[in-house]
Amino acid sequence: MNLVLLGPPGAGKGTQAKRLEDALGIIQLSTGDMLRAEVSSGSDIGREADAIMKAGNLVPDALIVGMIGERISKDDCRSGFILDGFPRTVPQAEALDAMLTERNLRIDRVISIDVDDEAMVERITGRFTCAKCGAGYHDSFQKPKVDGVCDACGGTEFTRRADDNAETVRSRLHAYHEQTEPIIAYYAKTGVLKSIDGMAPIDDVTEQMKRAVG
Ligand code: AMP
Repeated sequence: MNLVLLGPPGAGKGTQAKRLEDALGIIQLSTGDMLRAEVSSGSDIGREADAIMKAGNLVPDALIVGMIGERISKDDCRSGFILDGFPRTVPQAEALDAMLTERNLRIDRVISIDVDDEAMVERITGRFTCAKCGAGYHDSFQKPKVDGVCDACGGTEFTRRADDNAETVRSRLHAYHEQTEPIIAYYAKTGVLKSIDGMAPIDDVTEQMKRAVG
């Protein structure tokens, strides 16, 4: 089973992909996480992507298509994958179709998570993660039980993404509406698209996702 999760930044793609990963036994591929790893390692790709990401813009299609092409060829993708953050433009969706066709594969389901933009700004600017285990928290909606201590691993250091500030979030939302939203029509034509209500409580969203996957 190969899935694509679509939705603006903050819609919950990453959180839900992790839950589906456990439920379906297939892996999450987050292009944002891959790029952040490149930035941290100081690679050529990371150096090219860093300023673009900080401005809330999309990195060039060729760069990201090459990266995902290599990734889906690895053994751990054999049972399937959940694409989180890719494709983000129609040319990326076309390139993905071409590379899957070459491998006798296809996208089985595209889930579009519908949310309100204004709620996304609050969701994103409040989020932070444990530096040790990656558990996710939020200033208003999900604080650690003990202030400053991770519920999951007891870690006491937390990080925030460089692009999770209000100004960059607005650019990222703009990029979503201008460049990514047209993909919804692209996939609607092929009959694989399902939309779900991403403003529902987090567990409800997971249930809707599971139903959408079938
Ligand atoms: P994300 O973690 O999915 O919110 O992605 C963080 C940032 O990485 C985005 O704002 C883009 O700058 C970049 N990025 C991630 N995936 C893509 C993609 N498929 N195409 C272009 N840029 C991407």
